[in-house]
Amino acid sequence: MNSKLAILGGKPIFDKLLSITRPSLPEIEEIKSELQDTFNSGIITNGKYVVEFEQRCAEYLGVENVIAVSNATTGLMLVEKALGLNGEVLVPTFTFTATCLSLKWNNLESVYVDCNPKSFTIDPVAVEKAIAGNTCAILAVCIFGNPPDIEPLDKLAKDYRLNLIFDSAHGFGTKYKNRLIGNFGDAEIFSFTPTKILTTGEGGLITTNDKKLAQKIQLMRNYGIESDYDCEYIGLSARMLEFSAILGLKNLNKVEEVINFRNKLAQDYRTKLSSLPGIEFQEINNDCRSTFKDFAILIDEEKFGLNRDELALALEKENIQTRKYFYPPVHLQKVYRHFYPKYKEEFVNTLKISNNIICLPIYGDMKEDDLEKVCKAIYQIQLHSDEIKKKIGSCHV
Ligand SMILES: *Cc1c(COP(=O)(O)O)cnc(C)c1O
Repeated sequence: MNSKLAILGGKPIFDKLLSITRPSLPEIEEIKSELQDTFNSGIITNGKYVVEFEQRCAEYLGVENVIAVSNATTGLMLVEKALGLNGEVLVPTFTFTATCLSLKWNNLESVYVDCNPKSFTIDPVAVEKAIAGNTCAILAVCIFGNPPDIEPLDKLAKDYRLNLIFDSAHGFGTKYKNRLIGNFGDAEIFSFTPTKILTTGEGGLITTNDKKLAQKIQLMRNYGIESDYDCEYIGLSARMLEFSAILGLKNLNKVEEVINFRNKLAQDYRTKLSSLPGIEFQEINNDCRSTFKDFAILIDEEKFGLNRDELALALEKENIQTRKYFYPPVHLQKVYRHFYPKYKEEFVNTLKISNNIICLPIYGDMKEDDLEKVCKAIYQIQLHSDEIKKKIGSCHV
């Protein structure tokens, strides 16, 4: 890129917008006969394809019981309800808002916990400090595909007799200590929305090795009804469509390929960006595998020359889409912050990450050439940071 940066009046490096994410999808032809089959049978929800998809997911993850649901948020709501939680739940504030709103729908109090500054996942030491008399559960979250530190969390849950749930929305294919997640805690919940690793359009999956819990949730995803209309449990209407399961079955065949490719892209980003000053990366342990649902970098304004928002603006002008995941952290969001004014000054690690993070484009069929162009743009932006800062500053006055 020899030409001028777009923010300084040049032509954008991309003619068309480079999206931050795109779902990996099969060709329409590949799912035509299965779709025709469902239309012929008239069974378009919670039928044989959902059963097959559940079996294949259980095999892939190596878990005893799985329940497909309409999305991960209802999955979280169902698990919390089925476990009969009552009291305070320890949860990271560096997460997507759905983690916490599932608790609100169950009238559970969220007690926020800071994250580890390197892994971005909930800090087990902070968890232990936050345990109080009415703590009933820990809800840990897989962040961008990086698993939380499960072993110490598991030990705390056992020692203090707490339930342990994992929001594994980003973690379909994530490994912790070389083992696929899906088997940990009381239950885990995966998401299949289009921004996640494996998509079914909309959808989610609950996994558990507790057979009784699984049976209960299976009824609860269908209002809580067994055979008649004499309702057994307070359930939800949370079934998965046959269309979703058909899509999921095709995508499952390629999920390992997609994850390996995302890992390659993430490695390329790291190699290409690591020589720039003021860029930090999320650390993934050697015995873990991230799905790289997102690829995040942290910007140190003093060293890089621009802050995160200025970099995002300069990239936007180049037609490169970025996102600030997760900003603001949950405890500072409009609907939650008035409940918790006392938290304002806390969570040092979360605030540092949330204020400086920017996620770059990454998806299953991203062109390596496009990644190269994103890195070149960041290089040029850093090189001209003084000029850009002046330009942005003068626009504001
Ligand atoms: C996407 C997401 C959810 C919600 O998933 P849905 O399937 O859209 O309900 C929950 N938690 C996290 C961390 C997520 O990223």
